[in-house]
Amino acid sequence: MRYIFDNDLHIHSYISLCSKDEAQTPEAILEYAKENRLKTVALTDHFWDASVSGASGFYQIQNFEWISRSKPLPQCEGIDFLFGCEADIDKDLRLGMPKERFDDFDFVVMALTHLHMVGFAISSEDAATAEGRARVWIERFEHFLSLDLPFHKIGLAHLATHLIAKGREMYLRILDLLPEEKLYELFGKCAQLGIGIELNSADMSFADEEADRVLKMFRIAKKCGCKFYMGSDAHHPDRLKAVKPIFERAIDLLELTEDDKYQLKRI
Ligand SMILES: [Zn+2]
Ligand SMILES: [Zn+2]
Repeated sequence: MRYIFDNDLHIHSYISLCSKDEAQTPEAILEYAKENRLKTVALTDHFWDASVSGASGFYQIQNFEWISRSKPLPQCEGIDFLFGCEADIDKDLRLGMPKERFDDFDFVVMALTHLHMVGFAISSEDAATAEGRARVWIERFEHFLSLDLPFHKIGLAHLATHLIAKGREMYLRILDLLPEEKLYELFGKCAQLGIGIELNSADMSFADEEADRVLKMFRIAKKCGCKFYMGSDAHHPDRLKAVKPIFERAIDLLELTEDDKYQLKRI
């Protein structure tokens, strides 16, 4: 059976500093879930725990107290509205939350690819070339998989985001530089650990002629047995209204079935 778009596990509210849109409320997100008959949605505002040093200016203010202002989340029968966050790792591979903090979240999306944050997520030296950026993409992924974390409630956010590069040409080149053998190794481990793989609405907004290059990693992930969830990564209500056809196209191109769907295990 074809994959049914019934989940969106990466959504921001006005609380995220890159949103600040008063209309992007938990209530508006619940409304989006109702309109699209979604069964599970997750609020994932940007987060860096105050107990971990090294927060950038962007992250410093977005601590647990800051993002907890959205609680309690509005609920509705038939829809699971999860409290989550979007976590990050800095260029010294320091994870922005201690292991015990995962207990406070239903779900965590891990952003390993914020390579636009030069100086924070990647050194300026590595950021200077496509080769350096591709190497850091792999290093951050590999390091994350070596950690001792509750992987059953973690998803990998926007792995093919345009944020990895400056410009479309460099972006596609970085994707080409990721060795297939390494991708099999990384996604094989993700499948083993039960980590969800995100199909991010921005990543999936590629031109038809770019499809094979962007989808390469996701096709490998599928072959490895990884499970997929949808992530609008919406910061504004108009984005929530626009994502359904994008997800439907990605589902078709990847030929996803219900067996490929990520199911959050509540343990
Ligand atoms: Zn992100
Ligand atoms: Zn996000």
